This record gives sequence, C-alpha cells and structure tokens, in this order.
Amino acid sequence: MTLSPSMPAPSRTDAADPPPDVPIDRAPVKPVLAPPRPRAEAVLVYGFTLIPMLALFAAVPLAWGWGLSWLDVGLAIGFYFLSGLGVTAGFHRYFTHRAFKANRALRNGLAVAGSLSMQGDVITWVADHRRHHAFTDKEGDPHSPWLFGTTPAALAKGFFHAHLGWLFGRDRTNADRFTPDLVADRDIALISRLFPLLTVVTLLGPALIGGLVTMSWWGALTAFFWAGLVRVALLHHVTWSINSICHMVGDRPWDAPGRATNVWPLAVLSMGESWHNLHHADPTCARHGIGRGQVDMTARLIWVFEKLGWADAVRWPTPRRVARLTARS
Ligand SMILES: [Zn+2]
Ligand SMILES: [Zn+2]
Repeated sequence: MTLSPSMPAPSRTDAADPPPDVPIDRAPVKPVLAPPRPRAEAVLVYGFTLIPMLALFAAVPLAWGWGLSWLDVGLAIGFYFLSGLGVTAGFHRYFTHRAFKANRALRNGLAVAGSLSMQGDVITWVADHRRHHAFTDKEGDPHSPWLFGTTPAALAKGFFHAHLGWLFGRDRTNADRFTPDLVADRDIALISRLFPLLTVVTLLGPALIGGLVTMSWWGALTAFFWAGLVRVALLHHVTWSINSICHMVGDRPWDAPGRATNVWPLAVLSMGESWHNLHHADPTCARHGIGRGQVDMTARLIWVFEKLGWADAVRWPTPRRVARLTARS
C-alpha cells in the first residue's frame, strides 16, 4: 500500500456506502490515513496474530495425544459464537453499516462481545471496514487481493495481503474521518480503549472456567489452549477469509462494486458473512443470505433481538429492497 496521509480524498461517489446519518465525507474532508501506528504496536499485532495460529497448527497432533474434553469443546464453541456474532452482528452489521437500531445495552454488549475476537478495538475495526467499502478492490482498500495484478504470482501475493498481510503494515485508517459517530459515543470510545483488558478476558476467561469446573490447573491449561488460542485462531481465519477468499473465488449473482463473491462452504462458520457478494450489492441490509437455503445465523440473531424489543428499524431484504438490486446474469 502506497497511500500517504496526504493522499487526495475520494470523491463523493467513491464512498459507496456511507451509513445513514454518519457524516463520513462531509467537507472539509479529513485524510484517509491517520499517523502510522507505533512500531511496538505493530510488533504486538504479529504476536497476537501468529501465536494463536501456531496453536491452531499444534491442535491436531495435541488432540490425538491429549484427548480433548467435552468441557473444552463446549467452551470453545461458546466463545467462538459469542465473539464471532459480536463481530458479525455488532462490529459489522450494526456499527459499520447500521443495518438496525439497537438500545444502549445491546449496543454496548455487541461492542464488548466483538472485542473478544481479538480483531482490534471496535473503532479501528469499523474504520477499516468502512474504508474497504468506500474503495472496494481499488487503491485505498485496506485489504483487497487485487492490488498487485492478475498473474498467478500477483494473485498469491494478493491473497496473502488480503488474508492477513495487511494487518502487519503500519497504515492506520483515520477514525476521525470514517467513524466520527463512534469517536463521539462515550460508551463506545471507552469500550474501544478497554480492548487490551478484553483481550486478557477472552484468553483467560475460558481458562478460569475450565479450572473452576475441573478444579485443576490442567483443566485451566487445556481450556486456555482450546477455547482461548485455538478458538481465536479459527475465528481469525474465518473472518480473514471473507476479505481474501470472498473477494477471489465463488459466485457473483449480484452487480456490486469490486469483486465480492458468495462462498457457500463458509456460511455456517462465518455466521452468514460469506454471502459477501449480496453484502457488497446491498451493504446496509441486515440479512446477507437472502436466497433459498442460504444460512445466515447473524440475521437470525438480529431477528431475535428485534423480537425481544432490543433492536428496531431492521433493514430486512423486503421484495421492494431486493427488486432494486441488479442481477448479473
Ligand atoms: Zn468485502
Ligand atoms: Zn461490510
């Protein structure tokens, strides 16, 4: 990425999806990038990305050698969906795209749950993702796989960059430009600052439960390994796959800016996010899997929030809404 903080601002038409009532690009336009992230923070990103991944690689032989308790499996699944749905329903569909309105408790709960995924604080995550929609698969997109060309070598480089390479750069999206609504929200700004603490909670929480249930250090250790490290790594790769795989291979039934695709094998693990072509065609829609049989667990959860009265003004894919989309074939 060769952007500099002084890169010219995109025109209004570049900002494909300013969420409603968010003055993303109202004049004077702020720069796309903030000052670069400190080197120490960049090193931490390596640690928090690569250590869980090593655990994921070690997991298979260890599962053979150690066995794997049902408690570890249950904790891993529980924390996977708690943190994963925090990202999909919270960071993505609510905070980035405002696909529904949420009461204060739900809003804060979603911000905390998503922070347990170790994908960065809520404001940074949303700023990066709004930039992705503003510049999809063009210069300025923080994680497009198409920035290096279309030869096999360029695509391999692009895949790595989109999947996780982009995280290791020192570019920082300018939150004042892309997320003024969140920066001004005192609750969300506080939860954002608490991200380091929530990282400790997400790693040691499973260990604490495992230790207390089994009343053993061994139970704490295996829960830390499976429901802490391995679970974080698996969710990392599923989320990153939306940026890499779901912009490279799969179906593109709808006309949308960029090259986003629908990838059905990832539908369950990604909790509906892999219907990514529809998402780029209609970013504020609360449901991404709108076709028959397109499982979308996140949309179901938003439906539950609506029934409980915690969410309203949900942007469901009504026939009128779908009719505004353009089919490609
Ligand atoms: Zn995308
Ligand atoms: Zn999005």
